[in-house]
Amino acid sequence: MTKNSLLAGFLAFFLLPLMTSGSDIPDFENLPYIENMTPSQMHRIMAEAKAAAFDRSRAIEKSLRDISYTHAQTDFDVKFYRIELAVSAPDSTIYGNVGTTAEALVNNLDTVVLDFDATLTIDSVYLQDGTRLDYLHSGMTVTVGLERAYQSGETFSFTIRYHGTPTSGFYQGFFFRYRGGVPAIYTLSEPYMARSWWPCKDRPDDKADSIDIIVTCDTALFCASNGNLTDTLRNGDGTWTFYYAVRYPITTYLFSLSISKFTIWKDWYHYSPTDSMVIINHPYTDQYTASVTGWGITPYALEVLSGLFGEYPFINEKYGHANFGWGGGMEHQTVTSMISNWFGYYEPVVVHELAHQWWGDMITCNNWHEIWLNEGFASYSEALYYEVKNGRNYYHSYMDQMDYADTGAIYRYDTTNSDAIFDLIVYDKGAWFLHMLRHIVGDSTFFEILRAYYDSPYKYGDVTSAQFLEICETVSGMDLDYFFQDWLYGQLRPNYLWSYMNELDPSDGKYWTFFMINQVQVSQPQVFRMPIDLRFTYSPGDTSTTVVFHDTRKRIYIFKNDQGPSDIVLDPNKWILRNATKTTWAYNLIPFPLNSGQQYQPFSDTIVARGGTGFHKFTLKSGTFPAGLTLDTLSGIISGTPHDYGTFNFNIRANDQYSSYKDSADYTLTVAPVAGLAGDADNNGAVNILDITFLLGYLYKSGAAPPVKALADPNRSCDISVLDITYLISLLYKDGPDPLIGCVP
Ligand SMILES: [Zn+2]
Repeated sequence: MTKNSLLAGFLAFFLLPLMTSGSDIPDFENLPYIENMTPSQMHRIMAEAKAAAFDRSRAIEKSLRDISYTHAQTDFDVKFYRIELAVSAPDSTIYGNVGTTAEALVNNLDTVVLDFDATLTIDSVYLQDGTRLDYLHSGMTVTVGLERAYQSGETFSFTIRYHGTPTSGFYQGFFFRYRGGVPAIYTLSEPYMARSWWPCKDRPDDKADSIDIIVTCDTALFCASNGNLTDTLRNGDGTWTFYYAVRYPITTYLFSLSISKFTIWKDWYHYSPTDSMVIINHPYTDQYTASVTGWGITPYALEVLSGLFGEYPFINEKYGHANFGWGGGMEHQTVTSMISNWFGYYEPVVVHELAHQWWGDMITCNNWHEIWLNEGFASYSEALYYEVKNGRNYYHSYMDQMDYADTGAIYRYDTTNSDAIFDLIVYDKGAWFLHMLRHIVGDSTFFEILRAYYDSPYKYGDVTSAQFLEICETVSGMDLDYFFQDWLYGQLRPNYLWSYMNELDPSDGKYWTFFMINQVQVSQPQVFRMPIDLRFTYSPGDTSTTVVFHDTRKRIYIFKNDQGPSDIVLDPNKWILRNATKTTWAYNLIPFPLNSGQQYQPFSDTIVARGGTGFHKFTLKSGTFPAGLTLDTLSGIISGTPHDYGTFNFNIRANDQYSSYKDSADYTLTVAPVAGLAGDADNNGAVNILDITFLLGYLYKSGAAPPVKALADPNRSCDISVLDITYLISLLYKDGPDPLIGCVP
């Protein structure tokens, strides 16, 4: 393996004059000793670098905020761009000739709106045969009048020729920079700046199926770009032209150029015993050594990520890196751009940008509100990579370093500038979202979801959170809407207080465990609905985990085990982004389910509270209580004979008599209607003479008591007497009134 081997073939031929010895000492004054850094240190440095980069992004977007799309832009579907650019460093000018081929999605389409900064001057808009088209170029759009109206399904093409010096901001746009006297020209377009240097439908939900890139620059410079370099042509005037072909769908913000002097080196990703894909790296000449170390992990990382997600999505083209002037990394399709200092060679950054080739480039967020679909996935992929490389403990510590504690939602409501879009929350809480999802659905299902996502209709297209949710639900068979709702749109995290107590049940010698969870956060949502692990320890080495689905503020969970656990811990492996505090058991109602009752049959059950001084006062706080039952305020016993039937929901409050402790809980009591016929004193299914003799026997001859008292009281006096016998005689022999069930005292 010769990771630092020099390029072969025509590249070597053309580049030999440009290459340095590769022995330069990189500019590493402030480089921490990366090898021994903890995840905490790594993460802090990454977070700071990200924050600093985003801080620099504001100014440009203030002046380029025309991001509202007219309806017309959704009326066509871009198929192909032919992007021809001549780049002149001495006068900071680009000369463009960009062809667009698109399909009409509506009838009578006679105008097309592209995004294009009017800072640049359009020379002409024309058809292939030379026919000129009318256009209006103003602000950030160009409206092109087509030569005729196109009907839905028809394809049209036109080309825009233009020139000028692109407006660039602090970090996005097209940059003419110098580095040690050498031009270092580069682009960074995400999210809204492709339009600042080439005319396009600049939105992530309409990928071109392919693009041709044709770039002319000084022969002293090399142009790194997307896809396959199919040809280079010397023009005989001190310039040469690069022909790149992108034959996978690509969105506008992922097309990039980096033009400078590079010491190019190649690597190989062997994806089968007989096949390999080239990795082409373009470090600035003085960055060769550093790049060999930093980017040298790429074949291994490709292997790891392909193993986790599915084969590298652009396997017929390439992967690679090119240095550029922005202070971070950018996942340009097949050619990630990297800052030329230690950060650009830093393993988590290299892995992050590579992971974007799947999540961001192959499947792209449909809109900038849902940028977490790019960034959360790429950040979480770092943790997955380290899990493969360093094991599960390292994975968990890596996730710990992405613990995100600030306000805001993963869903970005404000997409007017890249600060608002690329908030750290979409990286870190976005990664935690996937970490939590993994635990909810289980490991094997989670990776099945990723595979299904990889193979979904969104492959090489764009996706929304709702579409990702649908895949998660289909693969897992679980309802996961609650989880997406609470965590994508909610703020912060659950703040759990928890405690428990064990109690011997003398009736069977086993142990009750009462486990209390109360989420007390005041932010929204006030109720996170989450499955929560409870790890019971009975003795060292004897543990078991039980999952409770906690979907309310406070609840007591009731368990019974042969022995009382010596310890219980909530979410011991931190699969939830939460605060969790163990508290002492204070005073709680134990919501044992109540017995079922039967109408007109005696009933008894007991409300149970634990904690405090042990002396209680129970009161019915709200709800409906069945008539005929009473709650004893000291014992908590509910007793009596219910007259009504149905389902009764009520809330009971318990106060500790000698302290300020109190608790309340909801209860449900079901009373079944009495079964049988009124007057059927012997309960044999018929009302007849036998019921009269049965009652005579019961009342006067020490016979058996009626099995269902309510049936033996047809006159509804609440008492069984001779009057019930006369009622039955009247009914059976004198056409008396039909009896009803139930006494009326
Ligand atoms: Zn990223």
